Amino acid sequence: MTRATYRFRAHALTADETAEADPTLYAMECKGCGQSSDGAEEAKDGTEWAADHFKANPSHPTYREHIARSYRFEPREWL
Ligand SMILES: [Zn+2]
Repeated sequence: MTRATYRFRAHALTADETAEADPTLYAMECKGCGQSSDGAEEAKDGTEWAADHFKANPSHPTYREHIARSYRFEPREWL
């Protein structure tokens, strides 16, 4: 019978700011009808879309912001 030895390492989940990470995208969704902006790297693009959407649809005053941000586990100390 053989015995295996394992080592464990702690990891921390952090926002991925490496070059290969996907860019953070911001989009705004109308809660009244479900339409949404395309998603952009600038959050103000979504708020501008919401302002235009509200002007065209005054009965749609509520919105939900969606933020897509990449995360990755980074190795920490060996346990
Ligand atoms: Zn709407």
